Amino acid sequence: MIAAENINITKVESSKLKDINLENIPFGKYFTDHMLEVDFEDGEWKNAEIKPYQPLLLDPSTAALHYGQAIFEGIKAYKNNKGEAFIFRPLDNFKRFNISAERMQMPQVPEELFMEGMRQLIELDRNWIPNQSDHSLYIRPFMFSSDAMIGVRASDKYKFMIILSPTGPYYSVPMRIYVEEQYVRAVPGGVGYAKAAGNYGAAMYATAQAKSKGYDQVLWTDAFEHKYVQECGTMNVFFIIGNKAITPGLETGTILAGVTRDSVITVLKEMNLEVEERQLNIDEIIEAHKAGQLKEVFGTGTAATISLIKELRYKDYVMEFDVNSWKTAPAVKSHLNKIRYGQIPDVHDWMLKV
Ligand SMILES: *Cc1c(COP(=O)(O)O)cnc(C)c1O
Repeated sequence: MIAAENINITKVESSKLKDINLENIPFGKYFTDHMLEVDFEDGEWKNAEIKPYQPLLLDPSTAALHYGQAIFEGIKAYKNNKGEAFIFRPLDNFKRFNISAERMQMPQVPEELFMEGMRQLIELDRNWIPNQSDHSLYIRPFMFSSDAMIGVRASDKYKFMIILSPTGPYYSVPMRIYVEEQYVRAVPGGVGYAKAAGNYGAAMYATAQAKSKGYDQVLWTDAFEHKYVQECGTMNVFFIIGNKAITPGLETGTILAGVTRDSVITVLKEMNLEVEERQLNIDEIIEAHKAGQLKEVFGTGTAATISLIKELRYKDYVMEFDVNSWKTAPAVKSHLNKIRYGQIPDVHDWMLKV
């Protein structure tokens, strides 16, 4: 196994940072000076390297390109007003990464390699973490099968990598959402709970259809009845009905266990709201709306933290909301941001110092 001190570091000769203004940069477009690259071969991880960010040279028969053994994570690092850098709940992402790896028949990544590789990479590129409020450094760990061989079987070789992208405020205008009844994202027994690259590819057609009807995203429903809500695009979804917050439970394996989802549940409970993780039927949502009890609807995820939903359409029934009057979702978002930027105590030990 690779120990932290065995990560070989090659630094760039001069940083690209001098040519880039970190203010209000678009999401996922610029990458820092360095990247982590590690190979899995002969049953073990080897050649751990932090080196200048550069293209990969891949054989055209690289297994991941054909059969899709590919998984990823999304994490963020923040700078507080003293210039100290912290990563938000990276251990939770590490654990989820290995859950995804297991489901896709890929090797487990050792904790020290994932955590120390990430920490050392961020330390080297720490000048890339923006100082401005609402800005952060997006961390993208990923793994893919790298056998040069198109026989159908789990690959023997894999690459584990981490790249970093400075990011500005995620411009999240309140969304219009189409409740999807034809296409599905996840089924029990499937890979919905894994952060597998193919889940994203499989969602794009339905999303494009919803966009062509004037919606921003779909609200996925279950594969059998198209009644039980799952996730909103690539975000977990919350409904505030009466004085309860309800979000789909994880038990059927069709929901990605979001770190933001878990953080939002924790903060909602601290705000003395009752939180239920359970199956939620679209009919129950509509009844609540008709009774004036459907108070707030929002999506949660690392990129935007919380995205408000201003319109939800199910068949011909349209629910519209005055998001400007909402209290809960904005309060949760602001609370999480204060923890991230070190403005209130981090009572849950969510922030890991770089
Ligand atoms: C990544 C992801 C989320 C959000 O997870 P976070 O850990 O909160 O970023 C939700 N749903 C899907 C399908 C995802 O891929």
